[in-house]
Amino acid sequence: MSKLPNGHREGSLEAPTRHPINWQDPDFYNEGSLVKELDRVFDICHGCRRCVSLCNAFPTLFDRSETMEIDGVAKEDYWQVVDHCYLCDLCFMTKCHYVPPNPWNVDFPHLMLRAKAVKYKNGGTRARAKILNSTRWQQLEGASDAGI
Ligand code: SF4
Ligand code: SF4
Repeated sequence: MSKLPNGHREGSLEAPTRHPINWQDPDFYNEGSLVKELDRVFDICHGCRRCVSLCNAFPTLFDRSETMEIDGVAKEDYWQVVDHCYLCDLCFMTKCHYVPPNPWNVDFPHLMLRAKAVKYKNGGTRARAKILNSTRWQQLEGASDAGI
């Protein structure tokens, strides 16, 4: 088994490292910086395509390109990919061979979470999604159903 320059083995054979989400860093909400990271990770995914069967996010990413590369995907279509991710974490936990400590440092679910946070902050989240994701609303609905 070949070793990478940093001493790690190829193929994600190390236990994955989960870096904390850096949500308190102002750059976390910087849309330009987010798109740069989406460009980087989506480019890696286009060259790999291993997760195509996991959910609708990956087929959306791959099918939107006429060139079969990331340069054929319109930036506005990035948000369709983000919308199709429901943060199940399967791609990180079971498929991806580029998760940290691999130097490519791909954490697809955390990147989708960051994109959803940026979209929310910019007012791009629809009322239906806000209601369905509100734990407070679900608590009130549950209480109402139970007659409390
Ligand atoms: S975390 Fe998102 S992108 Fe990854 S498998 Fe789950 S739904 Fe798909
Ligand atoms: S998340 Fe990892 S395994 Fe899945 S398509 Fe992207 S690079 Fe490949």
